[in-house]
Amino acid sequence: MPLNSKNIVNAYDREVKVGKFFADNMVHHHNKEQLPKVAYFCMEFGLNSELPIYAGGLGILAGDHLKSAKDIEVPLVGIGILWKNDYTTQLIGEDGRPYDIYPEHEFPTVKDTGKSVQVRVRGMDVTCKIMMVDAYGNVPLYLLNTNFERSEHGWMTSKLYGGVDQDRIAQEIILGVGGVRALRTLGIDIDVYHFNEGHAVFAGLELIREKMNAGLGFHDAWQKTRREIVFTTHTPVEAGNEVHGHELLQHMEAYNGLTYEQMYEIGGDPFNMTVAALRISRIANGVSKLHGRTARKMWKHVDNSAEIISITNGVHPPTWQSSEIRSAWEKGEDLWKPHIDLKKKLLDYVKDKTGVNMDLERLTISFARRAAPYKRSELIFRDTNALDGLLKEGKIQLIFSGKAHPNDTLGKDIIQLLVKMDKKYEDMIVFLENYNMEIAKLMVQGSDVWLNNPVRPLEASGTSGMKAAMNGVLNISVIDGWVAEGPHHGIDGWLLDEVFHNEVDYNAQDEHDLKALYKVIYDETVPVYFDNKNRWIKMMKASIDMSHHNFSSDRMVKQYYDLLYTEH
Ligand SMILES: *Cc1c(COP(=O)(O)O)cnc(C)c1O
Repeated sequence: MPLNSKNIVNAYDREVKVGKFFADNMVHHHNKEQLPKVAYFCMEFGLNSELPIYAGGLGILAGDHLKSAKDIEVPLVGIGILWKNDYTTQLIGEDGRPYDIYPEHEFPTVKDTGKSVQVRVRGMDVTCKIMMVDAYGNVPLYLLNTNFERSEHGWMTSKLYGGVDQDRIAQEIILGVGGVRALRTLGIDIDVYHFNEGHAVFAGLELIREKMNAGLGFHDAWQKTRREIVFTTHTPVEAGNEVHGHELLQHMEAYNGLTYEQMYEIGGDPFNMTVAALRISRIANGVSKLHGRTARKMWKHVDNSAEIISITNGVHPPTWQSSEIRSAWEKGEDLWKPHIDLKKKLLDYVKDKTGVNMDLERLTISFARRAAPYKRSELIFRDTNALDGLLKEGKIQLIFSGKAHPNDTLGKDIIQLLVKMDKKYEDMIVFLENYNMEIAKLMVQGSDVWLNNPVRPLEASGTSGMKAAMNGVLNISVIDGWVAEGPHHGIDGWLLDEVFHNEVDYNAQDEHDLKALYKVIYDETVPVYFDNKNRWIKMMKASIDMSHHNFSSDRMVKQYYDLLYTEH
């Protein structure tokens, strides 16, 4: 059967229906005590803008996972790190180039449990205080912290994804080994340890060590540990997966009591965190149907790997969907009025932050992502004159936002280019600095169109388009990640592909996508917006119909319980 968006969607619908039925039954008909108790490990958590301990999609996903686990009342705790300096506060300089500052954040909503654990890092005993966010009731989040008075190890939990390999390994020892020890110290029983990305792999080494201390041999301890771990992989390119040399691991004491031979058996040489996670877990998943496929192909050569299934990401509706839009949609009322209110709120924010006067009447196209080259934030400007007419006639306006990794020169070049366009087209184009959850929320609720044009197949899922779709903000997108299961061309968005392209010929993709993008904007989006408002509003409704259940993190967490956490 040819792989195109239509038959992926059909296959997906069947699985969702079966999965949902089972999950609903499971969650409602069993005692809560019978559900596996889960510890969810992640380097970053995006819960709200006031708790800046996230960099991007991975953290927002983790935050939404916790929130839905709370809402559907399942037993889950989060394990993470309290990052004193966050990822980066990224501002735009006079020269239009982004620069990074690292304020010392205070965390008024985070409590000290009064308990702590110790881990070994590079010859040192490192004390980590166990902090806690208890705003989510049955789903507490525990955060390890080495930044306190008289601590000599504050650097270990200062910058998320900052520093060099040594810093990263220290952070991963704290998350993994420290995380398991925190659960023991707090007296929390856990059935399933969920590693969201490979950063938490050292937790597996700690679980093995515990069993070896109790008298088991290495292989028995490994096999037994394996039944307790599940793993979610996110990176669709091999080079993006983290590897470490054994000498460095040994030097940092990441072996946690194991030998070279044992570590080699788990993660190879050099030690690959994803391969290790696949060998240390019972089952693994990719984060969309397509990504599951890509991941299975990519890791086919790994012997002794867990099976990789697909569970598509979702987003937390109460966080991302406007309650006014939700309510109008539920009651079958006019969606346009609440939409215009949200659009006005976004444009007021733009005016307030930048002084730029945007116009409520113009079609507003937004793009907000991490400024990684594969996301191609600046694709729309590759042909510099193509949009000139529409911009000068006052038909469209563009809003951009996004951070680059502090060391990513190419990412910063992209932002600089966007800022240049912002200057060139005064009131028609704007770039909002220091992208965060607050800006994301305003943009996914208040834009007319959400643009998504990554290089295929590099977007494992993508979630901002789901947030937009739930607000009736129409996606213009290539087919990759979640989009293969989501928007339908001309019904609830516009697709730039007819079929999924997975050949990685970057130049061909650039050329194809650019042509398709201008064609869709000129021939479809602009005419519908200005000449057929009724159809536009119908498309908004169809977009919410398509997304409100399938791309909700409630559906996602149920599937994690059904397909990953519960052993079949
Ligand atoms: C949703 C979100 C992301 C992830 O968006 P993608 O489309 O997956 O790239 C990143 N950062 C913030 C602040 C978000 O809200």
